[in-house]
Amino acid sequence: MSHRPDAPRLRSPEVPVTPVRCRAVKADGTRCEQVVPAEGDACLWHDDARTREAQAARARGAEGKAAAARAAKYRTVPDEAVPPLSDMDDAVAAAAWVFRMTGNGTLDPATSRELNRSITTFKDGIHKRDLLRRIRELEKQLKLVEQQRGRVRD
Ligand SMILES: [Zn+2]
Repeated sequence: MSHRPDAPRLRSPEVPVTPVRCRAVKADGTRCEQVVPAEGDACLWHDDARTREAQAARARGAEGKAAAARAAKYRTVPDEAVPPLSDMDDAVAAAAWVFRMTGNGTLDPATSRELNRSITTFKDGIHKRDLLRRIRELEKQLKLVEQQRGRVRD
């Protein structure tokens, strides 16, 4: 939330309109630069009678800043825009997609890292699965070869 000055006092035409500043002195010794409303001599941040109002405004401002910081930190795309990942060709296409979306700023760097980790994990899983299948197939063939050799010897 910005420290927007309150509207200057409305006075009769013969009195020059000079905005009244807040009476408060800040921690650095300078006077508060906020303009005060007609009915008071302190701005929202320094008016003891408006402490609750000021706290609520600060809380709203902090929430807004936190939400803005989260929004600025994490940039993602909707689920339907995420490419499929079910085989090795998909993994290659997904890696290229992450490269493009990170390069053009659609994805934030943290999200990009996580997606690349997921693609790597997926590829490793596919590799291991395929290697285990090949090993099982080779073991079967080896067994067959050994059985045939055994028969030849008999
Ligand atoms: Zn003030």
